[in-house]
Amino acid sequence: MVATIFVSCGQFTEDEKNLGKRICEIVRLSRHEPYFAETQSNLRGLHENILTKLFECSGLITVMHPRGEVHVSPTAHHVRGSVWIEQEIAIAAFLTHCLKRNIQVAAFIHESVRREGIRDLLHLNPISFRDDDEITERLPAILNTWRLEENVSTVSPGTKDELKPFGPHNYFYRNNNTEGPYCPFCWQRDKKEVLLPASVDYIVGHGRHCRICNQQYIEGPKKGGGSSPRLATDYPGRY
Ligand SMILES: [Zn+2]
Repeated sequence: MVATIFVSCGQFTEDEKNLGKRICEIVRLSRHEPYFAETQSNLRGLHENILTKLFECSGLITVMHPRGEVHVSPTAHHVRGSVWIEQEIAIAAFLTHCLKRNIQVAAFIHESVRREGIRDLLHLNPISFRDDDEITERLPAILNTWRLEENVSTVSPGTKDELKPFGPHNYFYRNNNTEGPYCPFCWQRDKKEVLLPASVDYIVGHGRHCRICNQQYIEGPKKGGGSSPRLATDYPGRY
């Protein structure tokens, strides 16, 4: 089974581009498929090349190089990392925390870059580095420990059984209702097999949301529990 590993590394300098390529080589040697994310300049490219690939990946290797000093007052300043990479980490956090995806993460953060934004609140266990070579030296051993789940895919080989509706919410399943639930809307309209994520609380009730067709399935009232969503104003130091 080949899993896709999303490589989120700066491409601002030649050194950074070369590092990204070396990381891709190491991923291939571990018999997985790298996806080297490139900066996108339009919404379509963002959707097709970053958001979809992030959703499909089973692993994320992220390398945060310094991007310059931020002066928050005449006396206080710190070094900030790449905004693209910060955001890709945040999206991966959403996938794992809210959509219950199992994504392995290796986060290499340059020693000068301060922890800020959503990354400040995540338990990423980042690996601090000073020199790019430290990353390529440590990565093979890290990849060796990863147990990667199969890529999420919107289309599966046509040799399997048809999907059949089952249960109180009429989600679709196969293999005697052991494999699923699949999105009814995507299956009935487009013959796309899209696995639905685990049910969670939404504002309107407890249920599931299909990322492909955007259909919301409500299974019942909210179950509550856990902490209520925080407001952006609860987070200090967001600027
Ligand atoms: Zn759907």
